[in-house]
Amino acid sequence: MNPPRPIPKLDTLNRPFWTGGAQGKLNITLCGDCGEYTHPPLPLCRHCQSENVAPHAVPGTGEVDTFTINYQPWAKGLEVPLVIARVRLDDVPGVYLTTNIVNCAVEDVHFDDKVRVTFEEQGEIYYPLFEKVN
Ligand SMILES: [Zn+2]
Repeated sequence: MNPPRPIPKLDTLNRPFWTGGAQGKLNITLCGDCGEYTHPPLPLCRHCQSENVAPHAVPGTGEVDTFTINYQPWAKGLEVPLVIARVRLDDVPGVYLTTNIVNCAVEDVHFDDKVRVTFEEQGEIYYPLFEKVN
């Protein structure tokens, strides 16, 4: 069973991020003026305040920047233990996603492990989770 996750409230800004998985895409907001990324999505570039921002599909690979193993069943139906990680995305400097590392034993997750995105569908939301590469 899937762990219960908070359901994001979709709006025009965050919809590409939360629903991009339907097309297998991890969309991060990219500035057309300075070329920097902004996440979570904002109407303005966080670097240069330009409004010339749009969702951009990024490679969806990265590395485990840091993580913790959660043993506490803090919600009904939550399967523990689970890994809560901060993933550093390849080719998306300055953007980190807080996510789960799935499809492996919790003791197999280490700092700097190579990971790639995998999507968990719940309704129209596609949660970007990550699994180890190799
Ligand atoms: Zn910018």
